[in-house]
Amino acid sequence: MICLKCGYEAPEEAYFCKRCGAKLRDKHSDTVHHFTPHGGVKTEVCYFDINHEPCVKEKACFMEFREYDSDGNEIYKFTAHKKIKEATEPQE
Ligand SMILES: [Zn+2]
Repeated sequence: MICLKCGYEAPEEAYFCKRCGAKLRDKHSDTVHHFTPHGGVKTEVCYFDINHEPCVKEKACFMEFREYDSDGNEIYKFTAHKKIKEATEPQE
């Protein structure tokens, strides 16, 4: 990804330009490096709003989890509703 401000060639996964600090894109996903339940080595979590458009974590209504193996192949995917605060209150 090329920085529009200074022309620096940033890695695809970068959210900010290392040279000038410009924001390259909003962060719509997180990557967790770990051994996944289905035999992968990392999980990518993408955040979506109520309209299923990519959004920042704080506004997410849905989360899509994608597990990848060490060759970068997607091996498992599932979508979850993000637990909103009200829904996690104990219901008695
Ligand atoms: Zn830059």
